[in-house]
Amino acid sequence: MEIAGCHRLELSYESACSRLHGHNWIVTVYCRAATLNADGMVCDFKHIKDRIHGYLDHGNFNELLPFNPTAENLARWITQQIPECYMTAVQESEGNSAIYVADDAPAHLPHPFSI
Ligand SMILES: [Zn+2]
Repeated sequence: MEIAGCHRLELSYESACSRLHGHNWIVTVYCRAATLNADGMVCDFKHIKDRIHGYLDHGNFNELLPFNPTAENLARWITQQIPECYMTAVQESEGNSAIYVADDAPAHLPHPFSI
């Protein structure tokens, strides 16, 4: 999913990222379940989109989230919002991505961009 928004980062060094600026974050959420639910799904994509995109899109992440909104922290937060999610990839801009993998993720992970 693509999420538009803005943030500024609290950093220990001089950076343009400390000034308010925008991104179109590209977020990929990976979910799993031992069995599919009665609808034949792990989790409806719409529920994920409503919860994450619906909350963050066109928002100021510094106001919406209780932490420094780096791509890494954002990936961890998104993973924690969805019970079935074990991994989240957040691309902040071309070539700049972070992936968070939960501690209880399966041993053999798919390539993040293969599915
Ligand atoms: Zn940024």
